[in-house]
Amino acid sequence: MTPRNIHKGNSNNLVSDIMEFNKAVTDASPGDVISLTNGVWKDVELVFEGKGTETHPIKLTVEEKGSVILEGASNLQLAGEYLEVEGLIFKNGFTPTNTVISFRKNRNELANNCRLTECVIDNYNNSERNVQDYWVAIYGKNNRIDHNHIVGKKNLGVTMIVGLDTKESLQNNHIIEYNYFGPRPTFGNNGGETLRIGTSHNSLENSNTLVQSNYFDRTNGEHEIISNKSCQNTYKYNTFFECTGTLTLRHGNETLVDGNVFIGNGKPSTGGVRVINETQTVINNYHFGLTGYRFRGAFVMMNGVPDSPPHRYVPVIDSKINNNTFINCDNIQLGAGSDAERSQAPKASEISNNIFYHETKSNLFTVSDAISGIKFENNITGKNIEPLTANGFEKASIELVENNQGFLIPKSDQIKTPITISENIATKENTGTTWYSKKQNIVTLNSGKIIKVAPGINTLFNAANNSQPGDILELTSGESYGLTKTVKVKHPLTLKSSGVKKPILFFERMIALEIQNGGSLFLDHIKFDGLHSPDYAGNSAIATCKKSMIQNYKLFIDHCEFKNFTVNHSFDVLRVSEGTFADIISIQNSTFENITGHIAALDKETDDIGAYNVEHFVMKNNLFTNIQGAALRLYRGGKDESTFGPFLNVNHNVFDNVGYGSKNKYKAMMSLYGVQVNDITNNIFTNCKRMKMHLVVGEPIVNIINNNLYNSDDIQITGDEKYNIENLWNFNPEFNKDDYSLLDISPLKAKGTEGLDLGLLKIIK
Ligand code: CA
Repeated sequence: MTPRNIHKGNSNNLVSDIMEFNKAVTDASPGDVISLTNGVWKDVELVFEGKGTETHPIKLTVEEKGSVILEGASNLQLAGEYLEVEGLIFKNGFTPTNTVISFRKNRNELANNCRLTECVIDNYNNSERNVQDYWVAIYGKNNRIDHNHIVGKKNLGVTMIVGLDTKESLQNNHIIEYNYFGPRPTFGNNGGETLRIGTSHNSLENSNTLVQSNYFDRTNGEHEIISNKSCQNTYKYNTFFECTGTLTLRHGNETLVDGNVFIGNGKPSTGGVRVINETQTVINNYHFGLTGYRFRGAFVMMNGVPDSPPHRYVPVIDSKINNNTFINCDNIQLGAGSDAERSQAPKASEISNNIFYHETKSNLFTVSDAISGIKFENNITGKNIEPLTANGFEKASIELVENNQGFLIPKSDQIKTPITISENIATKENTGTTWYSKKQNIVTLNSGKIIKVAPGINTLFNAANNSQPGDILELTSGESYGLTKTVKVKHPLTLKSSGVKKPILFFERMIALEIQNGGSLFLDHIKFDGLHSPDYAGNSAIATCKKSMIQNYKLFIDHCEFKNFTVNHSFDVLRVSEGTFADIISIQNSTFENITGHIAALDKETDDIGAYNVEHFVMKNNLFTNIQGAALRLYRGGKDESTFGPFLNVNHNVFDNVGYGSKNKYKAMMSLYGVQVNDITNNIFTNCKRMKMHLVVGEPIVNIINNNLYNSDDIQITGDEKYNIENLWNFNPEFNKDDYSLLDISPLKAKGTEGLDLGLLKIIK
């Protein structure tokens, strides 16, 4: 046994099970310490209640930090006064309730003057992606949440909330500081916020919460990294590192955002602060390399709804955006979201004494409505920046000098007050705990060893079963592989050919390769032949697990061939399930011939609440011939604006006789619904059914350029009234097939099995 002399004195109780814990809690007096013994505590619901005093709190701690782990269906509730919790680790399970750590036992028994410190919640995810929970819910008053390590939330629900749903939780003076919020992947729907204070229902109440010196490390769940939804909160000295989203002042007034750092490092969709509502103050913030646009700009001031109800968009009035620094940030958005409803431009506000510097870009400002309600004064820009207004912007020779904290600081004779970053700024080192590692062991595709797989029946199945994450299964060039069992892709795995010729896969189950939770797949020079597949409708070469997958996956198909998917109808190439999400699906340099189903139908989120199945979809340099279903169906229903995908890139493909099958319920060769970025360029459509695009929400980007339609239906674009097709960005209406003549693509077909190179193909007008 571990020596149990770590805590001394009568008031120290080392407890080793839930009964002992409950007794210790019942008996606890001010100043007592209750320690959980080292080891795994499985399925324990701790209710820590009591009354300590300011000088003698009751403390719940652990025998040794890092050695006490709460697993399974465990959680913690606090209720009472002056309680301290320290050193708990939650992992390998998920809470049976809707909160892992709650500052209340029920709506009437809250925790006040309590502290949560050095606790860890690590990937403590409900296995159902769309089942909601919170990890930390703060109620009551005067609570301090500090030095916690919170990483890897992947299911629905905000990571940490401040709840204001009873009056005992208003004007709470909570302090949230020095916490490490580790990576949270893109969720693909609303409900992936990392911190939310209040809700729209209580957004006009004062919360008076201080959020300072916290480190947000790639917390990318959704558009709102932080969703401020109440009044009089302060955000200071926080660092946002490569976060795809913004600190959003969504509801509530009188917010102070002061001295924070936003580091984008050129990563896509990284943003700064988004301002809505009245009397907001955004000062002394430093922004570097943020590339996001629209609602994810480096700075965004929204248009509002006249006489807005609290849950919509209260117009910006009386707000100050001063003394902020923007280095290599691509987009400053004013009047963003302007539309028929959000018609009120910002009023009585000012943007002064800010510095805008960009090494390459000159047009930083996007103005979507009147800016006469904003006063601009003494802003300084680099020489190349186009000033937004005639007055209020002064050009300067700016050089960047690295300071002792590692930040590039602009210097110029015209910058009178030197730019400084607070010593209290959050860093990876001064946040979280000292004893729980912030390193993430992420295994990527192609990072493991090469395993040679001999031709034969189920050799591939066995090799996959015995593989380790990141491994590469090398199949013999040109040889045949049979599968009587579905290969389970449980981790990142690559299948490739040993030579130039593709190995051929025959499969006798309805699915050849199934991507399971934690799996990702790279297929390189593999041929799938449907000749031996079962004579039932609904086969597919690749499928995701039927169950919800909490981990995002990646799928790359490169130089592959899919043919003879004809044994029965609805034989798909890729079939995904509800509750799954791909960071990227990329299909390149591949050929598809005689397929009775779809190539990829990504439309399994049908609740119309903004959810979708893939963030980035790439289809490039492929040849599709005789596809009865759709080449692609991409669906994002509903009008939620919390996310920014899907992003679509369809480039340099030949689609030949696609979409005409009687079972093709989309009645289209490609059906796109609610897609936010639509790049469809340099493709040839011959004998194809209509491509349909329906625009639902946001400001979708539509690039339809240089496509050749021969003996095919026109592209049909529909959408809400507000989408005036003429005004869509980069929309090229000249896709009329009569304007083009078609190159003979037969040589390409012949070449198809060798892989395609359409680089030399020219569209002749
Ligand atoms: Ca949201």
